[in-house]
Amino acid sequence: MTVSLPSCLSPLHRILAAFVQWFDSDHAPGGAEKMRAEPDRVDWVRCIPFIILHAGCLMVLWAGWSPFAVGAAVALYFLRMFAVTGIYHRYFSHKTYRTSRVGQFLLALWGATAVQRGALWWAYHHRHHHQHSDDPEDAHSPHVHGFWWSHIGWITSRRNFPTDYSKIRDLAAYPELVWLNRFDTVVPILFATGLWGLGWLLELYAPGLHTTRWQMLGWGFFVSTTALFHGTSCINSLAHLMGRRRFQTADDSRNSWILTFITLGEGWHNNHHRYMSATRQGFYWWEIDPTYYGLKLLAATGFIRDLKPVPASIMEEAARADLAGSIAAAERAALLHPEFSSFKKVVPAAAALAMATVNTAHVIAPRRATGPAIRQQVGELARPADPSPPHG
Ligand SMILES: [Zn+2]
Ligand SMILES: [Zn+2]
Repeated sequence: MTVSLPSCLSPLHRILAAFVQWFDSDHAPGGAEKMRAEPDRVDWVRCIPFIILHAGCLMVLWAGWSPFAVGAAVALYFLRMFAVTGIYHRYFSHKTYRTSRVGQFLLALWGATAVQRGALWWAYHHRHHHQHSDDPEDAHSPHVHGFWWSHIGWITSRRNFPTDYSKIRDLAAYPELVWLNRFDTVVPILFATGLWGLGWLLELYAPGLHTTRWQMLGWGFFVSTTALFHGTSCINSLAHLMGRRRFQTADDSRNSWILTFITLGEGWHNNHHRYMSATRQGFYWWEIDPTYYGLKLLAATGFIRDLKPVPASIMEEAARADLAGSIAAAERAALLHPEFSSFKKVVPAAAALAMATVNTAHVIAPRRATGPAIRQQVGELARPADPSPPHG
């Protein structure tokens, strides 16, 4: 899979290697291990397709727009956001439900239309994120590397391009997934060409829609895919900066309503960091989680199965955390507005009630107390797949 050549590559060799990697992402002269060990450095040649993706949005300036083309861009954003969250994240990264081997391949194809590289590369980096969240090892922590590096910089870094198959042995056991991961531009190119072809058909057979092939390429592929990338990236950057922390996890993950709407439910990131094995990330009915509803629908068809619930122990921990948070908020309000004497009566009473019924020691645990146990969940996923079809 990797080609062993001398590790000290000349600049020309590096450029040539980057060109080859556009089409064969496992091409790694000198070895993938050495690439991953390098310091962070933007590989501009390797990033040209990513730059073209952004520049392609300018196409709409001369292609113009139509309600159908813009509607397609919006619909494809959400259809593919579901693929990123429901498939790349909740299936390939965390295995929160099961499907058949054929179903798994179809899911990988759907996910690949998001143009966020292969499912295995995505899952490898995401599991690494959970194991090292907001530590120096985390490739995209806004606290360690700053906002822009966590949002967009890290994927331009040469050391982050290779997939470490040893960290995702459960997925690397399937040659069809490895192939899709290795040649990760195949599906995006077919997808973009298909949209362009659809636009051509609309020009010929539905002229009343005033939609052209270039509008479909510009809006349906470039604009929609670029927005999808930045929407997804908000979870790497803003979801560790913006929102409320229910659980005192070993990182700075947060729950945010705003991010939830952008990402179809991934805004409940602090919930997810506390318990990553559950299919749902909104733990209560009011924590809207459209990805989970979509997965429930897919489960009703039989295409996927065995969605994993949130354990009762985690829900009890959430209730204790929310109660402690309410009391703290009431105390802060009483300090800020001592003229409202009712707080003086309510707060001590509530606190006494809480102390009588809740072991708050769990709630105010040291910040990193839950870290090793949570990170163990990731390690369990990386074991090799069972020789018998594990998803069958
Ligand atoms: Zn995170
Ligand atoms: Zn995750």
